[in-house]
Amino acid sequence: MRMTRTLTFSILLATLALALAPASVVARPKADGRPNIVFIFSDDHAYQAISAYGDPRKLIETPNIDRIGREGMRFDRCIVPNSICGPSRATVLTGKYSHANGFYNNSNSRFDSSQTTFAKLLKSAGYQTAIMGKWHLISAPTGFDEWHILPGQGIYYNPPMIHNGERVKHQGYTTDIITDLSVDWLKGRDRSKPFLLMYQNKAPHREWSPALRHLGHDGDRKYPEPETLFDDYSGRGLAEHDQDMTIEKTMNDHDLKLDEPKGLTPDQAREWNAYYKPRNEAFRKANLKGRDLVRWKYNRYMHDYLGCIKAVDEGVGKVLKFLDDEGLAENTIVVYTADQGFYLGEHGWFDKRWIFEESLRTPLLVRWPGKVKPGSVSRELVSNLDFAETFLEAAGVPVPAEMQGRSLVPVLKGQTPSDWRKAFYYEYYEYPQPHHVRPHHGVVTDRYKLVRFDGPDLDAWELFDLEKDPRELKDVHGDPAYAKVVADLKAELARLRTELKVPEHPPAEASGARIPPRRAPRPGAAR
Ligand code: CA
Repeated sequence: MRMTRTLTFSILLATLALALAPASVVARPKADGRPNIVFIFSDDHAYQAISAYGDPRKLIETPNIDRIGREGMRFDRCIVPNSICGPSRATVLTGKYSHANGFYNNSNSRFDSSQTTFAKLLKSAGYQTAIMGKWHLISAPTGFDEWHILPGQGIYYNPPMIHNGERVKHQGYTTDIITDLSVDWLKGRDRSKPFLLMYQNKAPHREWSPALRHLGHDGDRKYPEPETLFDDYSGRGLAEHDQDMTIEKTMNDHDLKLDEPKGLTPDQAREWNAYYKPRNEAFRKANLKGRDLVRWKYNRYMHDYLGCIKAVDEGVGKVLKFLDDEGLAENTIVVYTADQGFYLGEHGWFDKRWIFEESLRTPLLVRWPGKVKPGSVSRELVSNLDFAETFLEAAGVPVPAEMQGRSLVPVLKGQTPSDWRKAFYYEYYEYPQPHHVRPHHGVVTDRYKLVRFDGPDLDAWELFDLEKDPRELKDVHGDPAYAKVVADLKAELARLRTELKVPEHPPAEASGARIPPRRAPRPGAAR
């Protein structure tokens, strides 16, 4: 709050100076001096699939996304409070955990749009606000002057969308359409006001359908495999063994493009079939089994997933170019991030949900000229829980006390406060569908993760030492050498749960199950 007041005061001074300056000095009105915000949010975009993050597999080049980091800051430990789509979006808007904003899962949660969001606060403070693309919070957007969103998950080709409440039909590839809507909105904006644009892709969400121009983008490359593609989950408990998110068993024909997607125009279908049909025929003829079959699926998955990112990166390039051409880049905060991490074959998986690294960590690149040192890197524990607070502070708007994150503005300026968080609370609820990942919560530090599985049919603890076991392959909770670490982390977990007002038991609807399974009794718990 102190930082916020200081900033508000400096904005006041700046505004006053601007008002007193002779008219000729103010050649190009830059709204009112407050920074614009372009928030670029993709769905399920793993940091492993952004070249700025340097994945050893070198899966893809993303020059435009990388540019944001090169001219700004790359965060290497941006973690999410609940690693699935809707909950993450609700957290970004409210600056609160799922248990506090009421959006727990993608199955039966509905965003309570009467809540305070940073978009509403910016709008009240005189910002123009817009959201284009994926919304996925069920209730209609509030706090935006203009919104043009996909219904639900949306589709990849020729998507129906909803524009300020009215259903409209588009033809083309969804990522391109969302990009064009975003640039058009920027073109038509009121130039006397600062703006917030939330430019939110559907891509590269399952079922990973690339733009037709990107089919074959990789020249039938054989992708390097992650070390854990054939993980047998030994060294870990029931939850890791008994999930439903493997490339081997869970991926279906639709995911693997063995079926033609619905809704293509005849020309689009021709182009789609020209790429997939001969390859699918060769695949069927080969009659692959066992590991060879998993390898084929992994390569098809990578072609499609990374193909989606090609269009995302091109879209980012278009928006950055527009900001350059309009002279807006200098006073605009540009953020690139995703709603969570994603598995690209690590542990044999796709999808997310877990407290484990590939799921928990989301990419975060922030450019803010004059404030963020180009090419800087942060290893601090930051989160999308902090975004609302960050944007509010940047705009000089007081941060409501109910928000649970902390502004990243000092971190961005290279002045991380000495009391920055050393531990982060995580929570996951959705069960048993769609991927049978058991509910869990836990605490994450720079070195350790303590996890408690606390669902209806599992009550277990696990501990991972990321320094000795960066792939998270061995639960050391029962190892006497870690007794003190466990005790300390349990105390930290309890402290965080109290501070964040986490209810002892989640409400019945949190799991999203149609009929909530009976909760197993806990030792000593009153029934
Ligand atoms: Ca997602």
